[in-house]
Order: sequence, then C-alpha cells, then structure tokens
Amino acid sequence: MRLILMFWADFRGGNHLGSAPFREVISMKILVPVKRVIDYNIKARVKSDGSGVELANVKMSMNPFDEISVEEALRLKEAGKAEEVIVVSIGPKEASETLRTGLAMGADRGILVLHDGESEPLTVAKILKEVVAAEAPGLVILGKQAIDDDCNQTGQMLAQMLGWGQGTFASKVDLGEGSVDVTREIDGGLETVKLNMPAVVTADLRLNEPRYASLPNIMKAKRKPIDEKTPADYGVDTALHLTTLKVEEPPKREAGIIVDSVEALVAALKDKGVI
Ligand code: AMP
Repeated sequence: MRLILMFWADFRGGNHLGSAPFREVISMKILVPVKRVIDYNIKARVKSDGSGVELANVKMSMNPFDEISVEEALRLKEAGKAEEVIVVSIGPKEASETLRTGLAMGADRGILVLHDGESEPLTVAKILKEVVAAEAPGLVILGKQAIDDDCNQTGQMLAQMLGWGQGTFASKVDLGEGSVDVTREIDGGLETVKLNMPAVVTADLRLNEPRYASLPNIMKAKRKPIDEKTPADYGVDTALHLTTLKVEEPPKREAGIIVDSVEALVAALKDKGVI
C-alpha cells in the first residue's frame, strides 16, 4: 500500500506551512477478477455429445463469489482505505457485460482480456499476474471459486506466482497499515490470519451481501472505461493443459415411496441398504 501525505497549504492566507493540516491520500488500487459464468438460477444442461455444458442462448452472469469480491472492494474504497477498484475479466467479447455489472455496482474501470473458449485457472492466473505487474494493486480479491468449473484454484495459483500471502475463503477482511487480517472459514470454525500487503484474498459466501446496481449507476457505468487487451499483450500462451473427456448429467433421482409406519420405513431403508 502506498500512502501519499499531501500538504494542504492555506495559500489564501499566505500561510503556506505554519498551520497547514496534513491530508492523507490513499493510493491503493484493488483488482477484482470477475468471471462470466452461467447464471446460478439456470439449470445447466449437458450437450448431447457429452463434450461439455450447453451455453448457447443461456443466461450468463457474474460469478456470484465475484459479486461478493466487488462488494468488498467497494466497501474498502468507501471506508477510505482504497482509491480505485478495477474489475478484470478474461473471456469473450460478451464478458464486457460482466465488467459493466461490476462498474454499475461502483467499480471505477474495467480490463477485458479477450479470449474465446475455455479459460483454465493456470492461464487466468498467468494473465492476472501480468495485470498485477501493470497495475500494482495492493490487494487482489477473487471469488473463492467459479461456479462453472468449481476449480477453486486461481487465487491460490496467483498468490504463489506473485510470491504474495493469501487469505482464502474469507468471511471477514480487516485492512490495517501495510497488512490485512483475513478471517477464514475452515472446517469446524474460523481462523484469522495476518497477511503482509500486497496480498491475495478469496471471498467466501458470508463475507458480505453484494449490492444491487441502481438504474442511475447502470447508466453511469456505460461511460466508464474498459480497456481491451489480449493474452498475447501479456505474453501468455492460452494453450489448454487439460482435456475434458466426458461430462455427464447427475443420475436421475428415483421417485420416493410413501410408507405408513415406522416399521415399514425401517424395512424400506434396510432393503435399500441405507441402514
Ligand atoms: P476458479 O479457480 O476457476 O474456481 O476461479 C476462482 C476465481 O478466479 C473466480 O471467482 C474469479 O474471481 C477468478 N477467475 C477465474 N476465471 C476467471 C476469468 N476467466 N476471468 C476473470 N476472473 C476469473
């Protein structure tokens, strides 16, 4: 985090230094990677050839955990702890809509790294590393996982590549002077870690409740800048490292039966091998 102390001299009174109070200007940027995914309300359908999930004519939205990350970054900015919130998405042209959602929530500007086809966590992390090099944010707040691939890898990979500390599954973020306390949701409780900044944080569900963008802010977001880049601009090769062999629907649930006594229930459960 860079703290710039500015002198607010009273030029009108000719008193340039004497009683001039200090004004603190915090120049920390927060980078928030946001992924365009199938809307969480949509029931995903597997393509008939089993090669993946059907995306044609399907409603797409910002990954829900990324909405939480944007909200957290905005709250830090509103608390005067950050100066600028930048949203970045790696994806097709339409991912600009996802960026506009972030801008309508209140982010200042967007970066679209144009890439058609699958974006694997390793590739995304490599691109984000270069975006970080260009923007020098004090914090990168990602979602803990993208709900389409459920990988839960990008934040961890990015932190490792940058050599930064990471606070994953964050349910509370407390920004201090040059460090950040992150409360993490772990099995059976909560753990709080202190990270030196700059740092990587990944947002869990209970971190906050994201705001809805108001109509005036949606209109305002149309004028906010989105910088278009390509992976090649960052020198990143997007060749896939993984091959999807097969995607299958989960097995259909069988219809239930109605039993008329506890004995019949126990017998049915034994019959199914449940008890
Ligand atoms: P994953 O590791 O794929 O589960 O994704 C974890 C987080 O990484 C997401 O919540 C996003 O914050 C970020 N992320 C993953 N893929 C992308 C992408 N294509 N563009 C921007 N951010 C991404």
